[in-house]
Amino acid sequence: MMVVMHEGATEEQVEAVIERMVELGFTVHRSTGVVHTVLGGVGPMDNFEPEVIEMMSGVQECRRIGSAYKLASRHFNPHGTVIEIGGVRFGGEEVVVMAGPCSVESEEQIERAAAIIAAAGGRVLRGGSLKPRQSPYAKPGLGEAGLKLLRAAADRHGLLVASEVMENSEIPSMLNYVDILQVGSRNMVNVNLLRELGKVRKPILLKRGVASTIEELLMAAEHVMAGGNYQVILCERGIRTFETYTRSTMDISAIPILHKLSHLPVFADPSHGTGRRDKVIPMARAAVAAGADGLMIEVHPDPDHAHADGAHALNAEQFSELMTQLRRIAPAVDRTVHSVGI
Ligand code: PEP
Ligand code: MN
Repeated sequence: MMVVMHEGATEEQVEAVIERMVELGFTVHRSTGVVHTVLGGVGPMDNFEPEVIEMMSGVQECRRIGSAYKLASRHFNPHGTVIEIGGVRFGGEEVVVMAGPCSVESEEQIERAAAIIAAAGGRVLRGGSLKPRQSPYAKPGLGEAGLKLLRAAADRHGLLVASEVMENSEIPSMLNYVDILQVGSRNMVNVNLLRELGKVRKPILLKRGVASTIEELLMAAEHVMAGGNYQVILCERGIRTFETYTRSTMDISAIPILHKLSHLPVFADPSHGTGRRDKVIPMARAAVAAGADGLMIEVHPDPDHAHADGAHALNAEQFSELMTQLRRIAPAVDRTVHSVGI
């Protein structure tokens, strides 16, 4: 940590700060300048809040120099983490595409979705069964029955399964059906849930909250990892800004920033990120060009009649066209996209 004392801070104030820093476990290096005294603290960063020092008399500024997250930091694994599930490598050379309807609606709907996704080269069938709906009156999802349908359809088409977990009590039954547990944007700050997922030994797809900073997303990942579950996939899904044309503002720059700060695989969700079907494909292309390790795309066999999020769901032709385009873009950034039967 670095502490800058106010111009004219008294010797007593400086000594009180040094004493507090030592109490907190830091070794203090003092530099007395003509105008300011600067104190450098070397030591434990874990539970340290800069405000503790910043509020002391005579202190102008206190800053953390190391990052607040350790396990999620790039230093922890400088070459990057690859998470392997059933032969599919997340964070490897392949840009992995997970797709599916926002909500599992029926056996026929999820079967058709799985067929579309597998045929186009998708790897993961993603569908919501326990949905976080904006309105309390919207359809809530099929619950465990939906998870069963999801698993069966995915197995018929050789796909992995991802689905959103909303609360701790759902985790045990979800583990019977899914390969990846998704934490949605509304739950990114739910520390109870993150902690519980730290005990799980399956990968977590952690979506950025609409009003969360990149550092807050990494701190959420740290909560999961601190519990011993190192398999976290980060997902940029758009943030809330003053722009209203799109549902969220897709923060493409978060992708290279997360790669710089963290070793974890980074996915992008241009579906919720834009909320508009006609903008999903260009933002998906941009995400891959920016280095995304994978995409989450909402796909529905009949988007105009979807129970949820039809406005941004791609139909079969659009999804297939997107995958074709990605196969052209990926090689330009030294990546590949899975193709079927070619
Ligand atoms: C979803 O993935 O279906 C979803 C609800 O996304 P988000 O949590 O990003 O809004
Ligand atoms: Mn959705």
